[in-house]
Amino acid sequence: MIEIFTKADCCGCSACANICPRGCITMRADEEGFLYPKVNTDACVDCGLCEQVCPLRHKPQQHEIIAVYGAKNKNDDMRFSSSSGGFFSLVAEAVLAKGGVVFGAALEENLEVRHIKIENAKDISRLRGSKYVQSVLGDCFTQVRSLLRAGRQVLFSGTPCQIAGLKKYLIKDYANLWTIDVVCHGVPSPKVYQKHLRELSAQAGEPVTEVRFRDKTKGWKNGETLFLTEHQRLGNSKRKETYMRLFLNNVSIRPSCGQCAFNNRRSQADITIADYWGVDKQFPEFDDDKGVTLVLINSSQGRELFEQIKNKAELLETNFSLGAEYNLAVAKSLPLHPQREFFFANLDKYTLTELEERLLPKNNG
Ligand SMILES: Cc1cc2nc3c(=O)[nH]c(=O)nc-3n(C[C@H](O)[C@H](O)[C@H](O)COP(=O)(O)OP(=O)(O)OC[C@H]3O[C@@H](n4cnc5c(N)ncnc54)[C@H](O)[C@@H]3O)c2cc1C
Ligand code: SF4
Ligand code: SF4
Ligand code: SF4
Repeated sequence: MIEIFTKADCCGCSACANICPRGCITMRADEEGFLYPKVNTDACVDCGLCEQVCPLRHKPQQHEIIAVYGAKNKNDDMRFSSSSGGFFSLVAEAVLAKGGVVFGAALEENLEVRHIKIENAKDISRLRGSKYVQSVLGDCFTQVRSLLRAGRQVLFSGTPCQIAGLKKYLIKDYANLWTIDVVCHGVPSPKVYQKHLRELSAQAGEPVTEVRFRDKTKGWKNGETLFLTEHQRLGNSKRKETYMRLFLNNVSIRPSCGQCAFNNRRSQADITIADYWGVDKQFPEFDDDKGVTLVLINSSQGRELFEQIKNKAELLETNFSLGAEYNLAVAKSLPLHPQREFFFANLDKYTLTELEERLLPKNNG
């Protein structure tokens, strides 16, 4: 039976909750707002399946990367509304065109971030773009298994730990499953995110109804994080915005992210995508400040998928070291902020702006 002794040993992937044959594991939020499994010990039959599928009890080994590219979706509208080069949308389109289904993170009711399933190309926009909050997976893994067993093509996208959890949960390989993950340095707590939405709504005097984590109106590199109400537009450059600063400085993220087990060639996905930061320095002629996706092909299935869509993107051949040169999260984890504990202990006492002022040096940049 799964027991969490150290919070850093659980990434919240929910594989254990989905696999339990007795349905005795529920994912519950802790005081920081992150989900952890809670076992109903009375119903547990000690089958051990939950431990068997846990990706943090069976960590992946490093593997070779088959190829690395910089990619720009040739459709400018799609690229503009994506966080980097809009590569994800091309992969999703290809799988949907074959009659498949796609899972990914969407902004749902009350702007909560949850994984959803889409079957229609018009819904790709719901999955497009990064949402910098840990998404709720619910019973998605169970749904994926049923669809795979029914012979449907499935693309599952998410953070590297979500993909690793799904692969463990499925136990065996499926030829009709495709996976794509995002390079990820951490996920912020949904509780911090909801607090920010509440505080901004109070400041505006009306509710926040739309969030754009990576608005590119001022360019990809100087992107903004915006919170829109009916009449107002709140937010700032992503480097100055309170919520983003707490995220990017590893204050508001999950304990397991301080030493991530899935970066640096340990992704279990067929394809990994990231921002190709530094492309302007390495290949200035390729950068137009509208966004470039760094694409890492991890498996032969990833290569197969890539071949199907490559004509829809402008491509640049690069390599792992260049891709990681200006993007630390590709190859390593950075430690949690030294005052992370103070932050969460005082989350209900101060506003996020007050906590930002206490913990992070003033940002005039
Ligand atoms: C929490 C998080 C942290 C990240 N950290 C980094 C980083 O440190 N360095 C870096 O280079 N890139 C990071 N990224 C990835 C980056 O923001 C872009 O998503 C990536 O470059 C792909 O861009 P795109 O334009 O090809 O596709 P986009 O359309 O922008 O990507 C959409 C994809 O992101 C997935 N997604 C969005 N939000 C979430 C979420 N909350 N949980 C799981 N999956 C989600 C969707 O399911 C979809 O597959 C992070 C993304 C997330 C979600
Ligand atoms: S040991 Fe088996 S029955 Fe018990 S919680 Fe784990 S999966 Fe469920
Ligand atoms: S399977 Fe996932 S949710 Fe369950 S304990 Fe392991 S990491 Fe946590
Ligand atoms: S940093 Fe690692 S553990 Fe944390 S959300 Fe990303 S993939 Fe999961």
